[in-house]
Amino acid sequence: MTIEAAQDDLVVGVVGAGAMGRGIAQVAATGGCQVKLFDTRTQSSKEAVDFIESMLGRAVDKNRMSADDAKAAMARIEIVESMSGFADSTVVIEAAIENLDIKREIFAELESIVADDAVLASNTSSLSVTTIAAGCKHPERVAGLHFFNPVPLMKLVEVINGIRTDPGVIDFLVGLGERMGRVPVRVADAPGFLVNQVGRGYTIEAAHLCSEGVARFVDVDRIMRDAAGFRMGPFELMDLTAIDVSHPATEMIYGQFFHEPRYRPSTLMKTRMEAGLLGRKTGQGFYGYQDGQQKLPDEQSPPEFDGRVVWVSASNPESREQVMELLQKLDVRLDEDKEPGEESLIVVTPLGVDATTACLEEGLDPEHTVALDTLFDLNVRRTIMKTPVTDPVFTASAQGLFASDGTPVSVIRDSAGFVAQRILAMIVNIGCSIAQSGAATPDDIDKAVTLGLGYPQGPLAFGDFLGPDRVLEILISIFEMTGDPRYRPTPWLRRRALLGESLLTPES
Ligand code: NAD
Repeated sequence: MTIEAAQDDLVVGVVGAGAMGRGIAQVAATGGCQVKLFDTRTQSSKEAVDFIESMLGRAVDKNRMSADDAKAAMARIEIVESMSGFADSTVVIEAAIENLDIKREIFAELESIVADDAVLASNTSSLSVTTIAAGCKHPERVAGLHFFNPVPLMKLVEVINGIRTDPGVIDFLVGLGERMGRVPVRVADAPGFLVNQVGRGYTIEAAHLCSEGVARFVDVDRIMRDAAGFRMGPFELMDLTAIDVSHPATEMIYGQFFHEPRYRPSTLMKTRMEAGLLGRKTGQGFYGYQDGQQKLPDEQSPPEFDGRVVWVSASNPESREQVMELLQKLDVRLDEDKEPGEESLIVVTPLGVDATTACLEEGLDPEHTVALDTLFDLNVRRTIMKTPVTDPVFTASAQGLFASDGTPVSVIRDSAGFVAQRILAMIVNIGCSIAQSGAATPDDIDKAVTLGLGYPQGPLAFGDFLGPDRVLEILISIFEMTGDPRYRPTPWLRRRALLGESLLTPES
């Protein structure tokens, strides 16, 4: 099947004029397509057209669009009173409510109206495109076209092929997405498609980390924002999305994957949902909210540094150099002996393993030891990690020392990969499992995640930044410690780590 996305008289039907449908209609019209908009509530279609007009008006005011172009785009949008108005559509994009039975009814009716070669696409975010297509007479013309909210601002669109989708339909939808000013990414049908699968890694691992008692919500958020460069911490994000939206979506993806442990939700999310701590919209989630403002606990003021002499492990020479440079700036007395003195504060810089393991591997005193995460910028936030037996006097000494120049310090309990490395390791592993399955190319995985989730880097580039061997070590360490198969490394990661290759390296 070959359909030209650039044709002048291309007609795009849109079913559903809600939050998504109106955005899709807008970008189709600005992309030069004729648009027909249908909603069971005609009032919704009218409101959608008014909304689009105001959005284009704002674009004109900001000199992003000419008044003539805005007027021409509006003239291309037509409200239709029933789906029979879609008879001459080249493609119909369904954006009605997320219900399989309703979507199947819509698709069956559409098939009785449109031409045999018209393409049918669904904007579903959680249903299987293959399952929707299976109810159609011509499943080969059915695909997913998954936009992100708000559509005009979110450039990404996932083009999803069901098992029986004709490759020509996918090529056409990629061309259509580009014409609509989007960045299309080809993805095979799978639970959560691509972006929503990777996004689970961020929130689920953060929740598991807190359930394990490694850190508090606020610490995890601060570390992920300040040290790892994410726009929002995982708990703030869950508060924004609302946990009664994100947790059921997580449960659905987990169920659709036949309980793949990597996507296993945390009981922490379910109990908070049941308690009604839904997030911003109820005024209380992981944080409290007053007049829409997040009530953030104050950063704990650090204890005064007790002036103790400091000994730094040499097991990772690069990390040692970084710490020594910092300590020189902090003007502390160094213990430069081969073995730490009786009263020295011991600083280890483990990469992959936890503080306990790092300590015992070198025969150091765990009561006098803290670990410092050296992988992220030490000038923005510093994360120090205790062994289970670190003497509180030594923890306070380390906290005082590393905060003595005013840089905030987060103190966490023992965890292989601290907080940021560990959450990233999970995201990287999920990205690798998508690459391994061939559902999307390595480049497209990273492109989709940076555009769709706004992460500073895609999962595979993040893996390269951390070092594939280190990600492998983190996962193996947690796997050995917990026996939990959610931490088992994917073959994609393991092989590239062993070969010393980038995680972006495709199969030859
Ligand atoms: P919405 O509730 O804002 O809008 C749905 C619209 O569909 C309503 O106006 C409703 O009147 C109309 N509708 C319901 N049944 C219909 C039918 N049988 N025929 C025609 N119109 C019908 O929902 P939304 O957020 O725009 O989501 C639409 C779809 O897009 C869903 O499948 C959703 O999962 C998916 N999606 C949503 C988002 C998001 O963030 N909101 C993101 C990606 C995908």
